[in-house]
Amino acid sequence: MAGPLNENSRVVIVGAGHGGVAVAGRLRQAGYDGKIVLLGDEPGAPYHRPPLSKTLLGESHAQPLKPTSFYTDQRIDLRSGVSVVGIDRRHRNVQTAHHGTIGYDTLVLATGSRSRPLKVPGSDLDGVVELRTATDAERLRGLLRPGTRLVVVGGGYVGLEVAAAVAPHGINATIIEREDRLLARVASRELSAHLEAAHRNSGIGVRCGAEVAAFVPRPDGALAGVQLRDGRRVEADVALVGIGALADDALARDAGLACDDGVLVDEDSRTDDPSIWAVGDATRRLVRGADAAVRLESIPSATEQASIAVAAMLGHDRPATEVPWFWSDQLGHKLQMAGFVHMGEETVVRGDRATDRFALFHLKDGRIVAVEAVNSARDYMAGRKLIRDAVPVDRRRLADTETPLRAVALVA
Ligand code: NAP
Repeated sequence: MAGPLNENSRVVIVGAGHGGVAVAGRLRQAGYDGKIVLLGDEPGAPYHRPPLSKTLLGESHAQPLKPTSFYTDQRIDLRSGVSVVGIDRRHRNVQTAHHGTIGYDTLVLATGSRSRPLKVPGSDLDGVVELRTATDAERLRGLLRPGTRLVVVGGGYVGLEVAAAVAPHGINATIIEREDRLLARVASRELSAHLEAAHRNSGIGVRCGAEVAAFVPRPDGALAGVQLRDGRRVEADVALVGIGALADDALARDAGLACDDGVLVDEDSRTDDPSIWAVGDATRRLVRGADAAVRLESIPSATEQASIAVAAMLGHDRPATEVPWFWSDQLGHKLQMAGFVHMGEETVVRGDRATDRFALFHLKDGRIVAVEAVNSARDYMAGRKLIRDAVPVDRRRLADTETPLRAVALVA
């Protein structure tokens, strides 16, 4: 059944993270009256993932995505702790690990991503952990106390946010990154340099261009340290591996859906099976401003896709899309980023880096393709609009904080 849903339909959503929950909620908001089954393989109710790294040691690290009443009020049949192990496309059902089957009219894959494993000797030692789920966060919290020496492998979002979150609690953190700078995948060189200085100033060690060869055990089997490929060694009690995420697209691949490091979806977020949709980290898609299909690992992208998918399922108009955006909080730096930094050919700085309040505008052919704002929410919001409008801008006015951003467009 590829046509619009009706009150007799059953939508099954595999994955109860931000994307899956957003699909369920938006279906009801948009007036869908049929059945919704939301399957999550983790125990307990869906929760917010960002606080796991941003406020790891704070009170607010465990926050439910919705109150329990939401699922009953909205008649969403939430089933936690249920792993889906296969999809039978011909009979339109999914198989669960406990040998049950659940039939669907429309299936939504919101399976997310998982931590990339670091395959070196000693990675199975007790003190070596990853951070993806609430269970991972509890485990890591239990290992940290004042004076703990923590090595963070990977200078991406997970690594920087965790190091920033634990440093004020007397934990000695060192980040090991194999690229020559932090956040190399997602941030500009200028922003990387600024954040590296902020982390160093907070007592966090940063070693770029360094790769882990092995985790070294103590005689009792606990972690003693990290051996680097260049022969150096970093003493450590705990190691957090945060070296990226892999799309959880195995179910889709096994079911014969088109995948290419992520489930391939069209502009309605539909897979190549008209009854199956996919949203979130697990997908690869064309987005506004990108030169090729991309796999975005972000909550705003997942929720945007949820709206797009629901509109298409119900035969409604496609909602407007946004340029991709991200945010992070580290050491008093509220970071907000939009667009594709790597497409920029020149950078204009607006504001004063010394005061930790500035925005970096990245331009291509005189138009803004990305903005990275540090404690500058207003410039960030205006920057998003300028990216979307794709108008040529005056570089001098853009750099001048006295000139409002609404007045930087060059008018022909
Ligand atoms: P990430 O942002 O991809 O960063 C991982 C970093 O680790 C990359 O710079 C990577 O370099 C490096 N790396 C890879 N292998 C390494 C090795 N063997 N030794 C040292 N460094 C190595 O991934 P992440 O920080 O693990 O985050 C995981 C996911 O959570 C991502 O999807 C991220 O976007 C998401 N997340 C987002 C936020 C946010 O938006 N604020 C916060 C937390 C997590 P290469 O590029 O060379 O591989």
